Amino acid sequence: YRELGASTDRPKLLVASYFDRLGDALHVLAAAPVEGLALDFTDGASANLADLAAVGGLPGKRLVAGVVNGRNVWINDYQNSLTTLGTLLGLADRVDVAASCSLLHVPLDANAERDIDPQIRRWLAFARQKTTEITTLARGLAQGTDAITAELAANRADLASRAGSAITHDPAVRARTAAVTDADGRRSQPYARRTVAQRAHLGLPLLPTTTIGSFPQTNELRTARADLRAGRIDSAGYEERIKDEIREVLAFQEKTGIDVLVHGEPERNDMVQYFAEQLTGYLATQHGWVQSYGTRYVRPPVLAGDISRPEPMTVRWTSYAQSQTAKPVKGMLTGPVTMLAWSFVRDDQPLGDTARQVALALRDEVGDLEAAGTSVIQVDEPALRETLPLRAADHAEYLAWATESFRLTTGGGRPVPPGHTHMCYAEFGDIVQAIDDLDADVISLEAARSHMQVADELAAHGYPREAGPGVWDIHSPRVPSAEEAAALLRKGLRAIPAERLWVNPDCGLKTRGWTETRASLENLVAAAHEVRAGLTSDGCCPRGGGGGGG
Ligand code: GLN
Ligand code: ZN
Repeated sequence: YRELGASTDRPKLLVASYFDRLGDALHVLAAAPVEGLALDFTDGASANLADLAAVGGLPGKRLVAGVVNGRNVWINDYQNSLTTLGTLLGLADRVDVAASCSLLHVPLDANAERDIDPQIRRWLAFARQKTTEITTLARGLAQGTDAITAELAANRADLASRAGSAITHDPAVRARTAAVTDADGRRSQPYARRTVAQRAHLGLPLLPTTTIGSFPQTNELRTARADLRAGRIDSAGYEERIKDEIREVLAFQEKTGIDVLVHGEPERNDMVQYFAEQLTGYLATQHGWVQSYGTRYVRPPVLAGDISRPEPMTVRWTSYAQSQTAKPVKGMLTGPVTMLAWSFVRDDQPLGDTARQVALALRDEVGDLEAAGTSVIQVDEPALRETLPLRAADHAEYLAWATESFRLTTGGGRPVPPGHTHMCYAEFGDIVQAIDDLDADVISLEAARSHMQVADELAAHGYPREAGPGVWDIHSPRVPSAEEAAALLRKGLRAIPAERLWVNPDCGLKTRGWTETRASLENLVAAAHEVRAGLTSDGCCPRGGGGGGG
């Protein structure tokens, strides 16, 4: 910035920063030859205020004050923001009111959500509402609060309605989360004992084969959902189509020789929204699209209130699938951390509290799946690594509530059924301890592109349980050959002993077509058979590795 600032005949420079406090960078930028700074003053970044005072403010500079949160969907607290803005007036030449970051993270217009109860909708601010908040605050700052009396009163009433609502404060949920103890997050037996019971229960071969959960979301399935929405079929007709699909997916897996089957998740529009729609306290939006990446858009649901589960969410489909086959079928749930990561979260309580509520609701589902005799229960946490905070100093706190909420979901319970989990996204290296802390019996992980790097990372850590590092990169339509998958398995065996190694793709198959799914899974099973055949009778590895050491 010194160099940029020194150039002659230049436009004015404004350096914008967002998401979190600037910390050490603040005094450097405050002294830099730029005309303005944009800083985030919301939630986690509120330390920017004290830091700014500590460096003596920004004399001669313009401050763009991000007091309207650009990443959440909640109305601003005007009184709070005006207090912050008032303090900032004394710390810079000029103060502009702004959003804390670009508004691309929020949907366009809360007023378009006609299905949301107006009593809840008044708590919501999407991009349109946020721009109104910005101009209102700017008016209040420039002309005094008398200029925005009506707006201030309405804002106070909306905030009070949210704070005092039975939706945000459900006594039953509060009592239950308050009563949680460490013991609730523990399985009834340690893994070493559980695994003996689990092996006897499922009778699986070495290197058992399975998939992550979803099978291709075909045009037929999308059409069925559209037909249901448009009233062209009724819910009974829709359910018939889903059942047809489940039977087809099961038949294919049986024919291919997969050991632990899945029902294919055809009934799920999305792995988070499907659950959000069934949980009390969660809102789905109709038009709340936000960019996920590239041209992909998602409609994250909103964690609006205290979360509870009025009735079972998945048991019917899982039980139906199990009734169609003698092989074990996995029940599939989305874990609490991923539910939070892919939703809009509350800003009126710590994330860990929300995670604990979601975990307890999911725990009820786990209990019902168990009671229904489900062979294996998988709780997916693909976002666990993704939501790791930017600053290393914040990792421990995040990982503590993240792993606690996962264990609360899967804790208690009998040793059988085994608990599986799944994660996508590479660079597990810095969270292996957290993965270990989940105490899941089996974890499947994305690993094909990194050639099983994660298996080495698990081994280096001394990971004691079962793992399925993926041997098929499902992000590509390319079909891996059996030899290729077998080579990856042999590599995996050098890190993870055969009795703890699973064979599976990298991730769910919903974005794949049936053609490559069929061919790839056939190759994957062939690879497992080939490598199994090469194992010696003591179950260890053909190439002398497998000790599990680094
Ligand atoms: N069970 C989910 C599926 O297979 C997991 C998806 C994911 O990892 N993102 O689709
Ligand atoms: Zn995945």
